[in-house]
Amino acid sequence: AGDSKDFDREVESVCPFCGVGCQLSFKIKDNKIKYVTGVDGPANENRLCVKGRFGFDYIDHPHRLTKPLIRKEGAPKGLNVDPGNVHTHFREASWEEALDFAAKGLADLRARKGTYVAGFGSAKCSNEEAYLFQKLIRQGFGHNNVDHCTRLCHASSVSALIENVGSGAVTATFNEIENADVAIVIGCNPIENHPVAATYFKQFAKRGGKLIVCDPRGVGLGKFASHRLLFKPGGDVSMLNAMMNVIVTEELYDAEYIAQFTENWEEMKAHLAEYTPEKMAPICGIEPEVLRDAARTFAKGKAGMIFWGMGVSQHIHGTDNSRCLISLALMTGNVGKPGAGLHPLRGQNNVQGASDAGLIPMFLPDYQSVTDDGVRSAFTSVWNSPDFSNQKGLTVVEIMEAIHAGDIKGMYILGENPAMSDPDVDHARAALAMLDHLVVQDIFLTETANYADVILPASAWAEKTGTVTNTNRQVQMGRPAVTPPGEAREDWWIEVELAKRLGLDWSYTHPKEVFAEMKLNMGSLDNITWERLESEAVTYPSLSPEDPGQAIVFGDGFPRASKRARFTPAKIIDPDERPDTEYPFVLITGRQLEHWHTGSMTRRSNVLDAVEPEANCSMNPATLRRMGVEPGDMIKLTTRRGSVDVMVRADRAIAEDNVFLPFAYVEAAANILTNSALDPFGKIPEFKYAAVRVEKAGEA
Ligand code: SF4
Repeated sequence: AGDSKDFDREVESVCPFCGVGCQLSFKIKDNKIKYVTGVDGPANENRLCVKGRFGFDYIDHPHRLTKPLIRKEGAPKGLNVDPGNVHTHFREASWEEALDFAAKGLADLRARKGTYVAGFGSAKCSNEEAYLFQKLIRQGFGHNNVDHCTRLCHASSVSALIENVGSGAVTATFNEIENADVAIVIGCNPIENHPVAATYFKQFAKRGGKLIVCDPRGVGLGKFASHRLLFKPGGDVSMLNAMMNVIVTEELYDAEYIAQFTENWEEMKAHLAEYTPEKMAPICGIEPEVLRDAARTFAKGKAGMIFWGMGVSQHIHGTDNSRCLISLALMTGNVGKPGAGLHPLRGQNNVQGASDAGLIPMFLPDYQSVTDDGVRSAFTSVWNSPDFSNQKGLTVVEIMEAIHAGDIKGMYILGENPAMSDPDVDHARAALAMLDHLVVQDIFLTETANYADVILPASAWAEKTGTVTNTNRQVQMGRPAVTPPGEAREDWWIEVELAKRLGLDWSYTHPKEVFAEMKLNMGSLDNITWERLESEAVTYPSLSPEDPGQAIVFGDGFPRASKRARFTPAKIIDPDERPDTEYPFVLITGRQLEHWHTGSMTRRSNVLDAVEPEANCSMNPATLRRMGVEPGDMIKLTTRRGSVDVMVRADRAIAEDNVFLPFAYVEAAANILTNSALDPFGKIPEFKYAAVRVEKAGEA
């Protein structure tokens, strides 16, 4: 920080890193962000974490793309381009030439029979940019093959929430924990991944709230826990069913709430009868009395919240995990009142907003089904365009399979990095290399851009205007602090120019015109206007032009046909692969505090990269001793998909015979190892469980 002499302008905006959505103030001098301070936003009350405070210098990194690029004739595709010297494989082009080239390649594929083009949009862009992206694919190509990274994070949570509660968003803001007396935090590591939200959780525990932390890893929040359930990887459904069994057996449930607001209770009760703590303990690894105590503590609380993350969602039984959490909240009457609710902590800064805006293959904006003729008609009427497919589109992993099958031959990828983020990533990289035409729009030459035919240089978050929606359903305004470098342009402008060249009648001149169009078919934005957002954050739903929005929803019923929420029983489904003699350990992947997702931004931030510069994994010290491995040694991790060499750290928080590997490092890309088996409902891959072999590097 510094004093007022350190900057000549300040601009208030939102942090672009995680779904907490902290408001911040950029302090600017000479078109450079000098430093950042927290602002009193609804989610953060002036707080920021290390990324929000120190993570912005990536936007000035010399690797920034500043001119449109077209692949040179014959330049091979693959991870072979030095991001500091892209001219070995690409030549600079004017915007006119690059956009014409990008559009022609996509239009040529459109002209052929078949559904040859797919699109990945971005949860790092604004709501308006997400809306335009899905519209471009649907209106421009007539189908729904459009998706984004929500498929890799909370798709299974959304699937279970829509099924059982009628809405995919949180029922209460995380700040509501202030009014709770008990909370479950499961399958997430908020101190590292949602650090500002974690400060509220810590305060809750410090003032006496009962905090039940459940995770196979000894996550940092466990230090503040009243109950710490270190369950076996993949043991979630057995553990949660056992807790619910206790609540039923001991009649700790809220009979009045269940009778008034839910359905399928009798089936749920009958289902739970066999999941006794004694039977489930060997499966989940938690002693029966601990399960009982946790269940009683949650059920006896006056108001309880449930928070979950990707440890819950990224399994082939991810939807079942969320079904259990929803049932647990419903049977204890913990939805729709102060201090109570269901809250999947959203990852990317705008994954909630991008999903709301329809950047998903089965839903148009506001989760309106593409299979509903009336819904499509409402959109084509606003878009003034013919009907498009009534078939759900392909999801992220399915699109890669479709490329291998020859059914997809071109892609438009905006701000996503599937060459790092997809499971079984060598398979995904091979798919990208097979494409006839790949248009990549990004701020750096990402691993995915290594496979591009044309690259369109875009703007970083601090260089653009647009709204974003955080994990709390709070819609906030992002404002440009500095101008983009060189010829880089805002993403919405690039989308519009591409759409025009694909023959679409688009004439937007500012994101606020897009926002106005979104409101025509998005009831969630009722009473929220661009003008309001210029001066305040608004939580949807907002009931009047003066209402700041509803922090808690569903106090008087649920948005389902019956107006009731549903109990959906979940059976135990084993992980797709289990350890065996060849692959005896369990691999868990995830994030760490300093690095964000595939690292394209944070590894180019001087402060963040200095703190955490090297690819690393973590294992229990006892396991390392047994193997004769010292902390700091290089080890080789091998799964059925491939191998990586990586430096190992000792960490008692990791269970014996488990390995934790962050996925931000291209030199030890975690997703070379991960399994692409999918949850059948959310179509999310099993990033949180793979059977892995561990050896000293060089000895294998
Ligand atoms: Fe940014 Fe998330 Fe940190 Fe807040 S908690 S400063 S939104 S990364």
